[in-house]
Amino acid sequence: MDDATTATETHCPYCSLQCGLRLEPAGRRGGEVAVAPWPEFPTNAGGLCRKGWTAPALLRHRERLTSPLVRDRATGELTAVSWDEALDRVAAGVTEIQERHGRDSVGVFGGGGLTNEKAYALGKFARVALRTSAIDYNGRWCMSSAATAGQRAFGLDRGLPFPLADLADAGVVVLVGSNLCETAPPAARHLDALKANGGTLVVIDPRMTATAARADVHVQPVPGTDLALANGILHLIVAGGGVDQDYVDARTSGFDQVAQHVAGYWPERVERITGVSAPQIADLARRLSEAESVIILTARGAEQHASGTDTVLAWVNVALALGQPGRPHAGYGCITGQGNGQGGREHGQKADQLPGYRRIDDRAARAHVAKVWGIEPDDLPGPGRSAYEMLDAMGTGGGVHALLVFGSNIVVSAPNATHIGERLDALDLLVVADFVMSETAARADVVLPVTQWAEETGTMTNLEGRVILRRQAVTPPAGVRSDLEVLAGLAQRLGVATGFATDPEVVFNELRRASAGGPADYSGIDYDRITREFGVFWPCPGRPAITDEPAQSGTWHAEALHAEALHAEALHAGTLHAETPVPGTLHPGTPRLFLDRFATPDGRARFHAVDHVGAAEQPCPDYPFYLTTGRVLAQYQSGAQTRRVRELDASAPGPFVELHPGVADLLGLVDGEPVRVATRRGTLVVPARISAQIRRDTVFVPFHWVGANLLTNDALDPSSKMPEFKACAASLERVRGAV
Ligand code: SF4
Repeated sequence: MDDATTATETHCPYCSLQCGLRLEPAGRRGGEVAVAPWPEFPTNAGGLCRKGWTAPALLRHRERLTSPLVRDRATGELTAVSWDEALDRVAAGVTEIQERHGRDSVGVFGGGGLTNEKAYALGKFARVALRTSAIDYNGRWCMSSAATAGQRAFGLDRGLPFPLADLADAGVVVLVGSNLCETAPPAARHLDALKANGGTLVVIDPRMTATAARADVHVQPVPGTDLALANGILHLIVAGGGVDQDYVDARTSGFDQVAQHVAGYWPERVERITGVSAPQIADLARRLSEAESVIILTARGAEQHASGTDTVLAWVNVALALGQPGRPHAGYGCITGQGNGQGGREHGQKADQLPGYRRIDDRAARAHVAKVWGIEPDDLPGPGRSAYEMLDAMGTGGGVHALLVFGSNIVVSAPNATHIGERLDALDLLVVADFVMSETAARADVVLPVTQWAEETGTMTNLEGRVILRRQAVTPPAGVRSDLEVLAGLAQRLGVATGFATDPEVVFNELRRASAGGPADYSGIDYDRITREFGVFWPCPGRPAITDEPAQSGTWHAEALHAEALHAEALHAGTLHAETPVPGTLHPGTPRLFLDRFATPDGRARFHAVDHVGAAEQPCPDYPFYLTTGRVLAQYQSGAQTRRVRELDASAPGPFVELHPGVADLLGLVDGEPVRVATRRGTLVVPARISAQIRRDTVFVPFHWVGANLLTNDALDPSSKMPEFKACAASLERVRGAV
């Protein structure tokens, strides 16, 4: 917006729903801009949660950083300096450390909230300016298990392979480990529509959440046992003749092995593992077998485990056996968490990826991207370590000695956070770009104040795979720069004078070329199309002229070239008016994936036989409870933003531990009394919140404050490298006195 004179259609700064909203002049309402509904934007149709309504409070916040800060080596204090001084310090530090320890001794840590343009530029900066393999991002701790499973089963990872609105017309929707109504409240309307249409909502969650309270069926398994539950359900689907054999034969591979495998998951055994009764398991299997269409959605509750990838694969097996993926109003999907959790993992800030969801160890992918970047393929580094592995090795012989952090608050969000704090302190140089003094920025040697959502333009890719455009609505405060400007300034100081544009649209157009022909092909998407069409779903190939690639026969490119040739012929023959647009050269985007084939080499989805192993750390006499973590409605992620919004902080002012009344009786606790929660990694004293809605063997702590992740386990999924945030062994102790 031109500084509060007209309304700007843009998107919320927080979660993956990326709700559309209007920012308009605040007038007498105070502040510079105020939020108004944007009912035409389809994903949320004008609905917002309280985080969206209050988002402008961040824009002129009194804690806003407006000057670069450098830590004074003598006093240890952060001191305001000029941008030149700060960037010179970073460049000198990086150069010196790389000279001493090699290129890979400098790492970059990104975030799932960065725009596509920033994520792309960050990946390019790491590989071209720093020439380091050490780059990963906090999205590794979000959807990586579902992403790995999606790649294996379908050959492609896009959180939802269909628009969210498809939920309304399914027969049964199963949410596994998702509290959608609290984490993304406007999405609840799709669940309400499902029920209004006669559909059934099943929620699988150890807690009776706001979402579970709306369900027709709520199942409360032991944390870390969702895989066994899925195998048990599939056992009964197979035994009861519920398998869609025609679909399985035509569109999948590997079913027979999985059918044999789940024969070992009979209901009584699954009941012993999961705590879900055999009749309840049978009821679930019957409902799924009889439904016309089924959508199974997993989220962090199922995925943030050391066996998260296998857990997702177990649920994908159920969906495939029922013949659902690739059919209307049916299939499997993952509910992405962070605002750009989807796009953030597609364009190069992940340790093993290049833009367009290409693999960095793929020779052809390296050649394509290197050409766009104007470098030799051999100059591209190889794959680096995953997020936690990189942090775990900081300051050690083989690890990074400098870390540049963009859009992430590691101190709060990393598992086993005390250990990660120690590793951060072992760095020679910590640089943090943020717009407030997050807990991580407060430990930095250099803090770079950057722009935030409504002060900048850029694209995001929401949980549906819909690429949307956040538009600048206000002028940033004096003294801050965009992340793109920061990267350009650093690249120039590191001797790479060109190739780092600061205009987001220019960066996006380069991203389009870099993604062209890749799995996440954005080459047919531009800012104007996004505006006209309320977002565009990827893959969306561009015209052949944009991709600059030879067209393969049978592809959309070949069809587009053919259409262009016919058009040219007709123009030449005089049968068309010169102004007639070329038909068929605008790819429509892909709202629904897998309708004809899956993205595997043979076009078939793959079953995977997977086994229950349970949480890496099981309750024991010293730590008798399962600890699980999650979100509350009024806060978002590490809380660096939402804890600074007064209205949100007032309704969710701090962490607590939710525990069962039976446990409270054992400890002699009353509601609100302080409790010490301890695990093998740390302790936390928080007020008790007594609730009959949680399993008796399980306690819950929200993770938006320093605390929950002092406790969590850093056991990693062997494939996705997802830490086990959602289950570890904990003890409780009543603490006399105030929290
Ligand atoms: S936080 Fe998520 S659900 Fe709430 S308004 Fe923002 S995008 Fe929508």
